This record gives sequence, structure tokens and C-alpha cells, in this order.
Amino acid sequence: MSDEFDLIVIGGGSGGLAAAQRAAEYGARVVLIESGRLGGACVNVGCVPKKIMWNAAEIAGGLHDAVDYGFRQTPDGFDWPLLKAKRDEFVLRLNGIYENNLARRKVELVRGRAHFVDAHTARAADRNLTARHIIIATGGRPLLPDIAGAELGITSDSFFELPERPERVAVVGSGYIAIELTGIFAALGSKTTLVLRGESALKEFDSMIGQATLKVLGDQGVEVVTNAWPQSLERNAAGALELEVRDGRRLEPFDSVLWAIGRTPAVEELDLERAGVKLDAYSFIATDKFQTTSAAGIYAIGDITGRSQLTPVAIAAGRRLSDRLFGAMPERFLDYANIPTVVFGHPPIGTVGLTEQAARDEFGDEAVTVYKSSFVPMYYAMTKIKPRCDMKLVTVGAEQRVVGVHIVGPGADEMLQGFAIAVRMGATKQDFDDTVAIHPTSAEELVTMR
Ligand code: FAD
Ligand code: NDP
Repeated sequence: MSDEFDLIVIGGGSGGLAAAQRAAEYGARVVLIESGRLGGACVNVGCVPKKIMWNAAEIAGGLHDAVDYGFRQTPDGFDWPLLKAKRDEFVLRLNGIYENNLARRKVELVRGRAHFVDAHTARAADRNLTARHIIIATGGRPLLPDIAGAELGITSDSFFELPERPERVAVVGSGYIAIELTGIFAALGSKTTLVLRGESALKEFDSMIGQATLKVLGDQGVEVVTNAWPQSLERNAAGALELEVRDGRRLEPFDSVLWAIGRTPAVEELDLERAGVKLDAYSFIATDKFQTTSAAGIYAIGDITGRSQLTPVAIAAGRRLSDRLFGAMPERFLDYANIPTVVFGHPPIGTVGLTEQAARDEFGDEAVTVYKSSFVPMYYAMTKIKPRCDMKLVTVGAEQRVVGVHIVGPGADEMLQGFAIAVRMGATKQDFDDTVAIHPTSAEELVTMR
């Protein structure tokens, strides 16, 4: 077994697997080094098991609504351990499929933790592996707050290990993971508290989204605690957790407290200085538009770069990089503008392009025209609960080019992909208006706004 390759990929998650396989398809000799389970965060502790839990939560909502639709049944009897066992089995199957996919493409898999020896050598499993090109795709891991008792809480990684549903749970944070896991806990029957250090959630998104999301969560029975900056976490005499916040409030006893306050890049063990790879101010690996780091021949893709930490982004960056390095496409790179994204809340949240504020900052107030719609989807005509769907189109210029589409409502997740193509292609409000609606749907509102 030779230790000289055309490409070394460090990290077998979404980005690393995609880059390695694409390079191998072009005939490159590739080695991929993975220290954990193949598939990375997405497959093992992210998108995949999360979407299964989201589906369960959606079904729980459907079972509640079923009574309003004339079904004589009760939504009791959810079996968390049963679903966990089935979910774990599915993920294990995926791990095996990824290993087979690598073998089929003749990518050598080295199991071990990699670090750099020099700019062309990585060491793992007691081997020095060399290559002209090295891709770093080591992702990140959940952050814990720097406060007393933080270790008593869990993270999104350990969420997927919970053997039972906690009765009383607090989720601390205001981003993707906080909103998604709060929604899952609440729908599956936990008494759920969302703890925000500020006033609103999802601040990176259009302002309409955070407010609409918190309203829906409140209506679903989630206690939303604002302006609550965690100070300490303690276990009381009865064995329950108590969260103290900076203004002195002690939040109710919980069985579980989940930190969802961001992720930190997995760089410490790589010995990057030996290869001359520099970090940015936030400890992510800095790259140019071709994913090249400060060291020639070394590239970084996916979460480790800190840009749009999403699976399809890591995959697209990895594939395009391999197209460029081994597929004779010297100008190929990933454009990070207009990347659509969905937060899997209940209902889901979909967004592509500029927020209203970002459009005003970039083009000036005069140039921006905004269209909004807020309505109760027809599905809820029969139900006791009446959550609203909120939509916003952000347009710029006299031609009203659509630069942002923002949706909070059922179906937003599946609705958005096609609209993202339209935004990318430069569609105008007139193009939206000239598209005949599909009735009765929520999506039709996007082409009938006035
Ligand atoms: P990762 O997938 O994290 O892979 C990195 C790999 O590198 C890991 O397998 C790790 O073990 C390995 N590694 C680390 N250090 C070393 C080393 N020194 N040597 C060898 N191997 C090493 N994105 C979406 O698009 N949609 C979603 O619905 C979604 N849901 C998510 C839910 C959660 C709870 C989380 C945490 C994330 C979610 N994401 C989602 C984000 C998505 O998972 C990431 O953007 C994606 O996994 C990034 O891929 P990556 O290849 O950059 O890193
Ligand atoms: P995010 O960056 O989305 O959100 C974390 C938020 O937590 C911050 O924005 C901040 O919000 C708040 N926060 C930070 N520090 C503290 C603190 N000490 N105490 C209380 N709150 C704090 O991180 P996540 O962990 O939710 O997710 C990481 C990334 O994973 C996401 O950015 C996303 O790219 C990806 N992901 C994607 C998903 C998808 O595609 N559906 C799903 C899950 C994750 P504020 O300033 O408002 O307090």
C-alpha cells in the first residue's frame, strides 16, 4: 500500500466525501481520513436524524388535527425509545452505504485522527500520507457556554443519544438548532422552555421570521424567556436542573437543558501551523473563492470555513473544487450568494436571498419595494388552532427584481427550492405575477401578491 496520493481529504462528512468521490471519478488516487463515523455531522448528529425527529413531530401535529378532521382517535402513545432504535438503525445503514461508495470508487479510507506534518504530508493511523493536494473538511462541534455547570447541560450531539423524552426541557439559543429542537420537544410532549439572551430569534434572517416563529412557539405552549443570559447551571437537591440568568432570575427546574449556541471549528488537533494554514478572526480556516487556504495546495471546504454551514454547501464546494483540480475546469468555484435554506421548525421557515434590511442597506430605501402576505392556510379551516403563514418578497429597482423570498408556514421547506431558482435567474415581480397559480395551495400567494 503506497502512501503517495494525488489527493488527501481530511474529514469524511458531507464535504469531504463529496470532494473525494468526485476526484476519484476523474481517476485521481485519493485517500480519505476519518476519525469518527462516516457521513459527519449531517448523517450522524444533524440533518438526517433531525429530519426523522421533525417528521415525528409533524405527525404528532397531524394526529392532534386529525380529530378536527373527523377522525375519532387520540394522539397518545408516542414511543421515543422505539423511534430512537429505528432511527439509529437507519443511520448505521447509511454509514455502511458511505463506506461502500468509497470502496466502489477506489477511495482509500484511513480510520484515524489526522494532523499535518508539513504542507504535503498528513499523519494518521501511524502512517505519513503525502499528496500534491490536501482538502481540510473537518467541520465543527457544538459550543458550550463558559459558565459554571455548563457540563450539566447537553448539546445537539447528545440530543440524539437521549434514551427517553425529557419531561421538562430548556433549550438555550436562538438559531437553527434551538428553534428546530424546541419545536421537536414541544410537539412530542415535553414541557419546553426556549431561553433567549436577546428579544428575538433567528436574527440573521428577515425580521419577519423571528417574530412569527416566536409567536407560533408561544401558541404551541412553549414558554419563551427573553433577555435571559445564562449565568450558571446547577442540579438542585431533588436532582433537577436550575438555570440562573444574569439578572438573577432562576428558571424552573428542568430534566434536561440543551445548549444550542453555535458551533466551533474542529481545527485544534490539525497542527495547521506546520502546513502554513492561517485562520480568520473567528478561528475558521480562511479561503479564497477557489477554497484555497493561505498555503498553496491546501484547501478547506464546508463548516470549517465558517460560511453557510449547510450540507449542500459543503457538498457543492467539495465537488466544484475536485472539478477544478482534477476535471479540467480551471474556473469552477462555488458562488455563495442566494443559497436557499430552511429551518425545520413547526411550521418550517424558508429563506433565500437578501433580507429586507440587507436590501435597504445595499440598494437604498428608495430602490426597495416589499410585498407581504399573512394568512391562515386552508388546512386550518377545519382545526381549532389557526397558525398563520407569513410571506415576504423583497424586490429592488424599477424592474422590481426579486432579491429575497422569506416564508414561515407549512410547506415552506418544499416550496422554496423552485423559488430559489427564480431568484438566482434574476426573476422580476412581473415574472412572478405572470406565473399562473396552483390552487388551493399556500405557494400560490407568492405569485399573487399585490
Ligand atoms: P462534517 O459533516 O462535520 O464532517 C467533518 C468530519 O471530519 C467528521 O466526520 C469528523 O469526525 C471528521 N474529523 C474532524 N477532525 C478530524 C481529524 N483531525 N481527522 C480526521 N477526521 C476528522 N445542514 C443542512 O443543510 N440541513 C439541515 O437540516 C441541517 N441540520 C443540522 C442539524 C444539526 C443538529 C446540526 C449540528 C447540523 C445541521 N446541518 C444541516 C449542518 C450540516 O450538518 C453541516 O453543514 C455539514 O455536516 C457540514 O459538513 P462538513 O463536511 O463541513 O463537516
Ligand atoms: P446558530 O449560529 O444558528 O445560532 C446560535 C445562536 O445562539 C447565536 O446566533 C446567538 O443568538 C445565540 N447565542 C450565542 N451565544 C450564546 C450564549 N452564550 N447564550 C445564549 N445564546 C447564545 O447556531 P446553531 O448552534 O443553532 O447551529 C449551527 C449551524 O448549524 C447553523 O448556523 C446552521 O448553519 C447549521 N444548521 C443548519 C440547519 C438547517 O439547515 N436546517 C439546522 C441546524 C444547524 P443571539 O445573538 O440572538 O443571542
